[in-house]
Amino acid sequence: MNPVPGVGDRPSTHSAFGAHGSVLVINSGSSSVKYQLVNPVGGEAIASGLVERIGESDSYVRHTFAGNRTERTGPVADHGAALRAVLALFDEVGPDLGEAQVVAVGHRVVHGGAVFAEPALVDDDVVHAIEEISPLAPLHNPANVRGIQVARELLPDVPHVAVFDTAFFQTLPDAASTYALDREVAEKHGVRRYGFHGTSHQYVSGKVSRVLGRRLSDLNQIVLHLGNGASASAVRGGVAVETSMGMTPLEGLVMGTRTGDIDPAVIVHLHRNAGMSVDQIDDLLNRRSGLKGLAGQNDFRELHKLVEAGDEAAKKAFDVYIHRLRKYIGAYLAVLGRVDVIAFTAGVGENDALVRAAACAGLEGLGIAVDPARNEGSKKEPTIISPDWTPTLVMVVPTNEELAIARQAVALIAPE
Ligand code: ADP
Repeated sequence: MNPVPGVGDRPSTHSAFGAHGSVLVINSGSSSVKYQLVNPVGGEAIASGLVERIGESDSYVRHTFAGNRTERTGPVADHGAALRAVLALFDEVGPDLGEAQVVAVGHRVVHGGAVFAEPALVDDDVVHAIEEISPLAPLHNPANVRGIQVARELLPDVPHVAVFDTAFFQTLPDAASTYALDREVAEKHGVRRYGFHGTSHQYVSGKVSRVLGRRLSDLNQIVLHLGNGASASAVRGGVAVETSMGMTPLEGLVMGTRTGDIDPAVIVHLHRNAGMSVDQIDDLLNRRSGLKGLAGQNDFRELHKLVEAGDEAAKKAFDVYIHRLRKYIGAYLAVLGRVDVIAFTAGVGENDALVRAAACAGLEGLGIAVDPARNEGSKKEPTIISPDWTPTLVMVVPTNEELAIARQAVALIAPE
């Protein structure tokens, strides 16, 4: 495991960052790059930041290290320029990447198709395979590939690892991953359910087992990843057996700006009768729907304020969101038969006590309840929020996708 040669001038024989070095985790979007330098052992983020509005004249760069935030605004032409700007900030304000002993770069890749069930050490073939999956994720995979390519150019002497959002769900049984669509059409075009947020669902379900001191193989879990995007999963003994997202991240729960489940005939109707183009419908379903479409607001903090002020649309949006969530909890109870843990995670799941309480209200007969005092407020640590008497534990378990990616990268390049 070598540090990045040529990055930073100081000798790196005795790293202040620990014996295991660090992992640079990169999440490259179509017009943004987010990054975190992670200590894969201790778990802390040594530095983090983002570049937004790549390709525009007012691109924004933010880098945070040791509690100090550095911000820049100005044109950043493309992903290469973005990553060069990030590396320049590491040089300028720290931490020195040589001293940090970067042992790997971990890349978040959205769609691994049916090809990737595990993280992959990046080489030209892997990049090509990710490109080939792009028709299934036309916004995400090309951006992920761009991020990988520029990072490999700028940090050529360190292993790059691709970690796929879909990989954890490659274990879904056929009955769960198959749409009841004409078989030939489905097979020809890769139309099946893949699932997303897998890194988070895997991390949270594993964390639950460690926190409780119980074997993962003994636990049946429902994981509710409720962020701006949202998904639920059923995990039996550490193996994913169901999830709410499908061929794309559009299926399933109501989300910040996405519809989640909708009758597919609505799309045909809008095309035929409202004269909407495919691109317009795509935009409608993914970016102008969900809580935002129903209430004009996709942030739960703002939505609650609207509800308190008597806004009917906001109240309805909350009710629709909760109704869908409860339907999935009920469905996954049936899928699993016995549920030991329901774990809430991500921005909404970790912070919003009202959502957690409403999701579990009235389920005492199914062995599920939330204790109001335990549920109160945001949770920064894994917390049990159910009362002592229920057979099912309800928990809040903060997710950490960057750490999960960093650890998977290290496990791949230097297996114990
Ligand atoms: P993503 O990674 O999908 O962008 P996050 O997991 O960061 O999303 O979640 C973002 C969402 O979390 C926000 O849109 C907001 O609805 C919700 N959220 C964040 N903080 C709070 C809070 N303190 N109370 C309620 N909801 C919150």
